Amino acid sequence: KEKYAHQNEFLQAVEEIFISLVPVFEQRPEYIKHNVLSRIVEPDRTISFRVTWQDDQNRVHVNRGYRVQFSNVVGPYKGGLRFHPTVNKSIMKFLAFEQIFKNSLTGLPIGGAKGGADFDPKGKSNSEIMRFCQAFMTELYRYIGPDVDVPAGDIGVGAREVGYLYGQYKRIRGAHEAGVLTGKQPGYGGSLARKEATGYGLVYFVEEMLQDAKMSFLDKTVVVSGSGNVAIYAMEKATHFGAKVVACSDSNGYIYDPEGIDLKVIKEIKEVNGDRISTYVNYRPNAAYTEGCTGIWTIPCDIALPCATQNEIDGESARTLIANGVKVVAEGANMPSDLEAINEFLNNGVLFGPAKAANAGGVATSALEMAQNSSRIYWAFDQVDLKLHEIMKSIYAQCKQAAEDYGYAGNLVVGANIAGFVKVADGLLKEGVY
Ligand code: NDP
Repeated sequence: KEKYAHQNEFLQAVEEIFISLVPVFEQRPEYIKHNVLSRIVEPDRTISFRVTWQDDQNRVHVNRGYRVQFSNVVGPYKGGLRFHPTVNKSIMKFLAFEQIFKNSLTGLPIGGAKGGADFDPKGKSNSEIMRFCQAFMTELYRYIGPDVDVPAGDIGVGAREVGYLYGQYKRIRGAHEAGVLTGKQPGYGGSLARKEATGYGLVYFVEEMLQDAKMSFLDKTVVVSGSGNVAIYAMEKATHFGAKVVACSDSNGYIYDPEGIDLKVIKEIKEVNGDRISTYVNYRPNAAYTEGCTGIWTIPCDIALPCATQNEIDGESARTLIANGVKVVAEGANMPSDLEAINEFLNNGVLFGPAKAANAGGVATSALEMAQNSSRIYWAFDQVDLKLHEIMKSIYAQCKQAAEDYGYAGNLVVGANIAGFVKVADGLLKEGVY
């Protein structure tokens, strides 16, 4: 802990995994003998670089860019890029660390990485975004490649940004290496269904959890936090499965629509106008808007899907959800529940789907995009969606099985950590000491 002081998010992520690995170390002493834990918490490399760009008034700005290449045991480094003012080394490391095990769970050949910059895209013009992306890639290109490291989108990085990043990469490298980035526009190297994949995948995962507990989405009340890429498509698929989504949010506040959220309106506000969620009440007068984010967890629901950001559900919010009768909580965002909240859910009979399993549909579909790029063909939407559905079923089955095998039946946190970890640890041992 001393070694990683000031890296709170990273320590939190490591602690959560290590606690669940205790039964593995009891059964697999070779991991201790070969010091696997020390090897797995140290990234292969952390790259940090200056990004200098000019705004529309010709003022020069400087941001810090990062790429944490954590592990390529299972395949090329793979993980998103986040552009957000809160980005720092600790957040990059926690995300890259979690990505190793998430990517391992998909069953596809991808290692773990994450990157980004402390750049705030809010209020920036399209030209400013483009110049920032070009400046960012002018440094990042030296460290990535289709068989080396394949970045993608995350918070603040969508298909537009990936397009600008890829354009700059191509100009510098003088080659069409479509597999170097995922999340590209369909028709320009991107896969159909990638945009929907994390949200849809989350709902497919919850469907498995519900089925095992003899329940379904039909007529369930759902609360989703966030209103970005993951949240929108989680709401869409949950609604498609017969649930009623009554609330969603952005970083300013949340809306509650007792008749069920109108997704067309949300898409218009967020995807077309890039506006605030508060404007929803202009379209739907019966809905209510409340300032502040955490209040969303006071809304009674059967299923809660946190899809915004890290640490958005603390112990208190968890206890409120439980008191209001929540049956399932599944994480669309990365680490949205803190450790206290997770323990509250697990100790009070709430079915809990951890991020590294429940939101792995996005990166799995990114790996399908890489496969399409390598074979130079495109698959139809339904074909990708079907593969995504199968992958989510398989992830759920692996987590459930690992939890049972190690004496924690029903605990998907332990199951996901163990199933993801064992594959990476075994690969590490097979490659020898380095
Ligand atoms: P987006 O940038 O598209 O959306 C993020 C959303 O969360 C926005 O609506 C944002 O509001 C909102 N938000 C941010 N902070 C808060 C807060 N404190 N409380 C409430 N809402 C907040 O990002 P994504 O949807 O892509 O990502 C969301 C999460 O899912 C992240 O944790 C990401 O790492 C994770 N994830 C994403 C994947 C993907 O495929 N996109 C894959 C796997 C995980 P505002 O508009 O105000 O900023």
